Amino acid sequence: LVKQEFLESLVDVEDLYQNAPCGYFSFLPDGTVIKLNRTLLRWLGYAEEEILNRKKFSDLISKGGIIYYEMFYLALLKMQGYVNEVNYEIRKKDGTTFPALINSSTLKDPSGELLAINATVVDITDRKKYETELLTSARLAEAEKKRFEFVTDLIPQIIWTATADGRIDYLNLRAYKYFNIEKSAISDFDVLQYIHPDDHRKAMSAWAKSLKSTADFQVQVRLKNAAGEYEWHLVRALPYYDDQGNLAKWYGSCTNIHQNILELQRKDEFIQIASHELKTPITSLKAYNQLQMRTESIETMKGFAQKSATTLNNLQFLISSLLDFSKISLGKLSLDVEKTLLSGIANHVAELLAVSYPSHKIISEIPEEDTFVMCDPHRITQVLINLLNNAIKYSPKADKVCLRLKKIAGNCLRIEVEDFGIGIPKEKLERIFDKYYRVIETKDNNRASGLGLGLYIIQNIVTKHGSRIYAESELGKGSLFYFDLPIEPSN
Ligand code: ADP
Repeated sequence: LVKQEFLESLVDVEDLYQNAPCGYFSFLPDGTVIKLNRTLLRWLGYAEEEILNRKKFSDLISKGGIIYYEMFYLALLKMQGYVNEVNYEIRKKDGTTFPALINSSTLKDPSGELLAINATVVDITDRKKYETELLTSARLAEAEKKRFEFVTDLIPQIIWTATADGRIDYLNLRAYKYFNIEKSAISDFDVLQYIHPDDHRKAMSAWAKSLKSTADFQVQVRLKNAAGEYEWHLVRALPYYDDQGNLAKWYGSCTNIHQNILELQRKDEFIQIASHELKTPITSLKAYNQLQMRTESIETMKGFAQKSATTLNNLQFLISSLLDFSKISLGKLSLDVEKTLLSGIANHVAELLAVSYPSHKIISEIPEEDTFVMCDPHRITQVLINLLNNAIKYSPKADKVCLRLKKIAGNCLRIEVEDFGIGIPKEKLERIFDKYYRVIETKDNNRASGLGLGLYIIQNIVTKHGSRIYAESELGKGSLFYFDLPIEPSN
């Protein structure tokens, strides 16, 4: 059995008091310090005799602290018998200070008279330092976050971040606009609701794959926009791993590739149409050729030769359209501009088409006087042939088309081609100059043949001349195409 005295001798209370990791001191109600431990003495830098009965509590704290001490601290102490965790700046002998937390309690005699106050002092310099560091890094993190948001709001793409389990926790401005959601709704944002149902599986399996292989996430899906329509997007994401190598976050983007996908689809469709359009005249040519070989009659032979010539012209026209189209795509369509007598070109084109299309009368209204413009004569000839071709092609029931040249204000020459055919619906008028665009869908078997490139090429040529081509039309009544070129002095 261990003796009680022995146990007590193990605890040297005086030593604990003197060398505790915190300061202890006692003072009288008027503040005079009557006792303090070695730890506090060391912190303050005083010798014991410089303080005991000489200094008051108020001598050991900063000015702000003194006001607080006199106005609140003492009153509170007297009232409740203790005051805890008060933050004071403690003033050392050398004038410097350190932050401390002071706990104090009162010592009263049996009648309740305040005799003295006992207090502990905890140096919180380190804690303050950590607090400041924490505050600084919080501020830095906030600034960094702002910068990230600023940059992502500048980008025309949708930018997002997600938690490791795939919950979206940040979207940039563009995303809020695209999906038409409020910033406050981000916690409820369910990305699957915005992915086209047919693309759900694709998206999920791409996600699973990148989780398994830690590879970048990349998938093409349709995302629902504010108008409720789906647009194709390329969704990419990179996993971000923390210092321990755990998946912490996903950083991702969605790039709108809708136009590119549509363009590719149109291109595929176009290749199909073009092949068909090229095959038809070749099949005819083969047939004419075989029939020509079989017949003995010179007259019949001549007839087939004539038909072959027309078909060959069509074929040549198709092929040169394709070549022009590729030149435009490559930015290689160039002009050989020279001073040109435009009435000469117009008359020539009118005669040419009159021979090819006996079905329509070509009414040309061309001023008598010679009018010169600066242009590429071959390209403008091509434009006129093309416009007249269309005028005839899209007016199967009419018997005439008009080609007009007229002087207009601003010393310009206006070139007009008018027909009295099927016309173009108002809402489609602005699209007829787009590449591949045809008012009547390819699926319609009654459609006139064509690649949907003619007006696109014409527009490019006219634009290259520094002008613009316009179309006016009324459904069932006919269409008018026109553009202007500045007149050159004739001498
Ligand atoms: P294509 O004639 O080969 O289809 P174009 O680029 O020349 O291609 O014309 C585009 C579309 O514009 C045509 O498919 C047609 O629907 C419409 N279009 C062009 N010219 C006329 C016209 N004179 N009258 C009615 N529609 C026209």
